[in-house]
Amino acid sequence: MQALERSFKTDVITTKPSFERISMARRTKIYEGKAKILYEGPELGTIVQYFKDDATAFNAEKKAVIEGKGVLNNRLSEFFMTGLNEIGVPTHFIKRLNMREQLVRSCEIIPLEIIVRNFAAGSLSKRLGIEEGTRLPRPIVEYCYKDDSLGDPLVTEEHIAAFGWASQQDMDDTLSMALRVNDFLSGLMLGVGIRLADFKIEIGRIYEEDFHRLVVADEISPDSCRLWDIKTGQKLDKDVFRRDLGSLSGAYTEVAQRFGIIPKNTINAQKPTLIN
Ligand code: C5P
Repeated sequence: MQALERSFKTDVITTKPSFERISMARRTKIYEGKAKILYEGPELGTIVQYFKDDATAFNAEKKAVIEGKGVLNNRLSEFFMTGLNEIGVPTHFIKRLNMREQLVRSCEIIPLEIIVRNFAAGSLSKRLGIEEGTRLPRPIVEYCYKDDSLGDPLVTEEHIAAFGWASQQDMDDTLSMALRVNDFLSGLMLGVGIRLADFKIEIGRIYEEDFHRLVVADEISPDSCRLWDIKTGQKLDKDVFRRDLGSLSGAYTEVAQRFGIIPKNTINAQKPTLIN
């Protein structure tokens, strides 16, 4: 606990472009989002996903650069996606390339954010007046339409069907994948003393001749989950940044340490040392 508090004190916040970012400029950029950049991959049907240090919240109204965040999320997302692949939940993840990049399969992203909640928090607490931390009677799956200019509004399956964002088959498969991801991640977190309050995933379609199959895409990291220490309730996710609760990289380092991704004795979380 003492080590945790120590590591939570400060984040290195920088606005200088990193060496990696400069050298990446020569590649063919496909898309730049708030936390990642996508580049053309070495083979057809592949993409290089680069994790930035940028942290944003409240639809990018709050912004900072948190040194080391991209490195931690790259490694944590690799860890979760690899586990999902191993239990037969397909993901876009192929392999990690280096500290900040991973090779993924190119897919067509369904324009929905799929949110699974086990405990009330965030927008659900606000919308329904349920106290944060209340255990929900069962996992609740919500869909938001991916559109930053609209603030990713909550939508129903009626909207999804009527506007043709996904077929009924896609939605059935998405729901069962989301619940499997929830079971897998909840168990994994429980094993290291963390409660998975909620998370967001994105689903992509990979086309194979006349068919397509769905894969978990984007990333799974403390940027897209709410993670609470079971004993203390301490937040180990992006709420640390959203609510100014201390060092974001300290929180993510704690998660990575619990999974053995970085050594336990890394007290200063600002420059994470990774285990291969
Ligand atoms: O804000 P809200 O309570 O709806 O978020 C639910 C979960 O989805 C949280 O874990 C949050 O980090 C994640 N989320 C996300 N990206 C968004 C919106 C929510 O990763 N654009």
